[in-house]
This record gives sequence, structure tokens and C-alpha cells, in this order.
Amino acid sequence: MKFKRGLVKRKMAKIIDGKTISLDIKNEVKQIAENLVEKGVKPCLAVILVGQNPASQVYVRNKKTACEYCGIKSLSYELDESISEKELLDLIDKLNENKECNGILVQLPLPKHIDENKVLLRISPEKDVDGFHPYNVGLLSIGKAELKACTPAGCIELIKRSGVDISGKNCVVVGRSNIVGKPVSMLLLAENGTVTICHSKTKDIKAVCKEADILVAAVGIPNFIKGDMVKEGVVVIDVGINRLENGKLCGDVDFEEVEKKASYITPVPGGVGPMTIAMLMKNCIVACKNQNNI
Ligand code: NAD
Repeated sequence: MKFKRGLVKRKMAKIIDGKTISLDIKNEVKQIAENLVEKGVKPCLAVILVGQNPASQVYVRNKKTACEYCGIKSLSYELDESISEKELLDLIDKLNENKECNGILVQLPLPKHIDENKVLLRISPEKDVDGFHPYNVGLLSIGKAELKACTPAGCIELIKRSGVDISGKNCVVVGRSNIVGKPVSMLLLAENGTVTICHSKTKDIKAVCKEADILVAAVGIPNFIKGDMVKEGVVVIDVGINRLENGKLCGDVDFEEVEKKASYITPVPGGVGPMTIAMLMKNCIVACKNQNNI
């Protein structure tokens, strides 16, 4: 096709709409929850919040709202900042024993005097709906996880539900954190992607990213991935949530630049963000079914 002089052919990526996809997943969960109720089982999630961190309060509120929407009962524990580690561990022990409760979520971060690792280890692996327990992390690494870390699992859903086949693709993950980078890499591998992980010590990140058919950015640096770091047609999943000085949210990907080359891209906000809670709801159902042998 010929273009008139002065006109620039501008390609636009398809936007992967996390709001719509997450709503689809919550509706699927709601349907399964209704079926479980008909069988006499009400899925139930316990949400534990320690202290008054405003961001954590918002996350917890959103999780409870999602439970309500999906027909999952939520048990709420809002504990004082000064609670001892032992008191928190005792509560987790009680919830581990409580047959009515299928999932336990401890909102992070915890106050400094409480050892987060100790707390996460105490949650029974079959109630670990965040997928952070080393038992579930181990299952993930051998491709057998049922309770998968929510944000990474959400990334995979976004890719698959956009009709993109991961098998055989060069997948580059930027970031190697335990909650995003590593688990999303394992999940891409389980989908038969050829996975490369970049991190703060990687030499020539640009060269590695340019090889990506699928690029997942989980760095925590605003606009880190620039247009000249990606190839034409790349599928981009931006996990980053960064608050700029002007109060606006932005991702780890320079959306304006990268969108011109990408075939698919997630926006921030409205991309990966809403998926985390949807996958949490899904994990509650998985946990509930497993515990009831359904
Ligand atoms: P993190 O700080 O734990 O890890 C960041 C990773 O990026 C590290 O592995 C580090 O090696 C790598 N990194 C840092 N600087 C780098 C550089 N200059 N070059 C290459 N790699 C570099 O962060 P995280 O918990 O994995 O989160 C990453 C981002 O995702 C953050 O913006 C966070 O807010 C966001 N996040 C979003 C969700 C969601 O629900 N959408 C969930 C979790 C995290």
C-alpha cells in the first residue's frame, strides 16, 4: 500500500484489556462458587491485615469486595500494629485447623518486628492462596502447581486469552523477584516458552529484550523498557505499578514508544493490576475444591 508523502504509517498495538479479562475470570469463578454452594460447600477466604498501611487497607478492601462479587465468604481479621509474631502465628494455626476456611491471605508488608517468612511458612500449603509457600513454589518449578502466585498466573491468562500462543516463543522476563519475575518465568516455561530472565546484573539488557517475542517487565522502574529495546510485533506484559511525582500511575514500559512496535500490550493501569485479585479468587475455588475432594 502506498502512503501519501508526509503521512507516516503508524502501527498501533492491540491493547490487552485486563479489566475485561479479569471480569470474565471473576464471572467464571462466581459460576463455580454457585455450583459449589448447590453441593453444600461455601468457598471461604480469611484475609489478615496487620496495622494501618493505607495501601494495604485498599488492597484488603478490594479483595473483600471481589469475594462478595464472586460468592466467596470472607473472614476479616484487622489486627493492631503491635500484635506479636506469636499471636499472629496462633491465628494462622487456628485458621489452618478451621474446616470452614479454604484460603488464608496475609496482606504484606508486615510490621518489622514480625518475620514475614515465618508467617508465610506457617500457612498450610493447601490454604496458601497467594502461592508463596515454598511447597507451592516447588510445585510450580516442576510444572505441577495448583495454587499459582496470582500476579504471574494473571500474566499468563492475559497472554493466552489474547489468543497468543506461548509455545516455542522467545520469552524475556525483566526482573527476578520471588513474587513476580521467577514464578512468571516458570509459568512461561511450563507453556513451552524459551525463557530468558534479566535482572539488575544482566549485561546489555537491550540486546536480550530485542530478541523477545513476548516480554514481561517486572522491574519497578517507571518507563524502563523503551521503544528501541523491543522488536516489531512483540507482545508486552507490563507488571510495573509506579506512582509518579504528579500522582499518576505508570508501568515499567514506556507505553507511548513501545505501543508503536508491539502487536499486543497491557496498559497501566487496567492491565495486569486487576488480574491479581481475579486469580486470587480462582485460587480460593481451587483450594476449596481440593479440600472437599470435588
Ligand atoms: P522487586 O523490586 O522485588 O524486583 C525488581 C526486579 O527488577 C529485581 O529482580 C531486580 O533484579 C530487577 N531490576 C532492578 N533494577 C534493574 C535494572 N536496572 N535492570 C534490570 N533489572 C532490574 O519488584 P517486584 O515485587 O517484582 O515488582 C516489580 C514491579 O511490579 C513493581 O513496579 C511492582 O509495584 C509491580 N507489581 C505489580 C503487581 C500487580 O498486581 N500488578 C504485583 C506485584 C508487583
